[in-house]
Amino acid sequence: MYRFAPSPTGDMHIGNLRAAIFNYICSLQDKSGFILRIEDTDKERNIEGKEKDILEILSKFGIKPKQIYIQSENLKFHRQLASKLLIDKKAFACFCTEEELEAKKQKAKEQGVAYRYDGTCERLSDAEVLNCEKPFVIRMKKPTRTMSFTDAIKGELSFEPDAVDSFVIMRADKTPTYNFACAVDDMLEGVTFVIRGEDHVSNTPKQDLIREGLGYTGKMNYAHLPILLNIEGKKMSKRENESSVKWLFEQGFLPEAIANYLILLGNKTPTEIFTIEDAVKWFDITKISRSPARFDVKKLEQINREHIKLASKERIKEIFGVDESKAELVKFYTQESSLVPEIKAKVEAIYSPKIAPDEYKNEFDIIKKAARNLKACETFDEFKKELMSVTNLKGKNFFMPLRALLTNDLHGPELSELYPLIKDDLAKILI
Ligand code: GLU
Repeated sequence: MYRFAPSPTGDMHIGNLRAAIFNYICSLQDKSGFILRIEDTDKERNIEGKEKDILEILSKFGIKPKQIYIQSENLKFHRQLASKLLIDKKAFACFCTEEELEAKKQKAKEQGVAYRYDGTCERLSDAEVLNCEKPFVIRMKKPTRTMSFTDAIKGELSFEPDAVDSFVIMRADKTPTYNFACAVDDMLEGVTFVIRGEDHVSNTPKQDLIREGLGYTGKMNYAHLPILLNIEGKKMSKRENESSVKWLFEQGFLPEAIANYLILLGNKTPTEIFTIEDAVKWFDITKISRSPARFDVKKLEQINREHIKLASKERIKEIFGVDESKAELVKFYTQESSLVPEIKAKVEAIYSPKIAPDEYKNEFDIIKKAARNLKACETFDEFKKELMSVTNLKGKNFFMPLRALLTNDLHGPELSELYPLIKDDLAKILI
């Protein structure tokens, strides 16, 4: 069972989307299932409406979870299982105050050593714990052995007990930390494979330790994805426009193209242009490069163009809001632009009332009148010759206003190539 576990705390980052797509593909390959879990445990960071955005984004990519879980609804399990860990002495109540911990962290910093929890509260007797009325958190006892796991991308990874440390699993307000809620939920929801960003690598031994403490013996497999870099080679921050899936949609990138590019990045694929369904046939998570991949929006533009060219008439209608008969025209304009709004504007300009260019006002009017009275012409050559002979215009004085009359633009693609795509619609275009 695979899962995608986003937090509804901001616009979806392409790194997260990449994890969602990889999880989804792997779940289709081994038919084990894919669930979505909204990790809304950190109430203060949740943003209203983001949960809906996540569902909408996934559905644009055709990603259908078998089940949707809301993490906060599992609170009763988190509390019960934290109590179990306390009773079984796998975890302990910690009464250290923020100020005390801060002072110890400061001291470690001054001494130039890494701060670790010093075990103060782990040494308290049961009686001391029961009689203490101060607020407390629950900490997992740090492991007594090296924790290790095999990552499908990074290979064997090991963590010394000090690196795992006695970490907090329940806060003083009786809500679970990310590591605890995530470890428990993955176990309860039957997850067997976790594919997520490499920023979570150090959380993995903690989550394994929690499940081990609970007596869970099910095997959890992991693949941690290298981070995505921007074109300058720096980590793509959440603030960067290009890292937001929503922003990419607003620019006019298609989900087909975004998915294609995210699967292509840091990977060796049999072809450059493909769909998620194609990738299900050959995708191999173990072949994803260990080094960070560079996200190049120019490359994404090229892939977007290819997907517009491949789209069915129905899909073109859906994306561009134009009649299916204009699908070929839309595709033709990919030579001018790669983005949906730009292409759409160019196609719409052909069907909108034309503005005579200042420098060719007279010629424009003459050509417009003549063109409207012309018989139907099969080819541009015929059309051009007929018009030239009626108007007596030639060269720039003919072609520039004619282009403006057909496209509302003084620049653009070869008119001879455009003409066959618009010839049947001339009555609607010569306006
Ligand atoms: N909510 C975490 C995140 O969005 C989930 C990480 C995970 O997949 O475990 O980063």
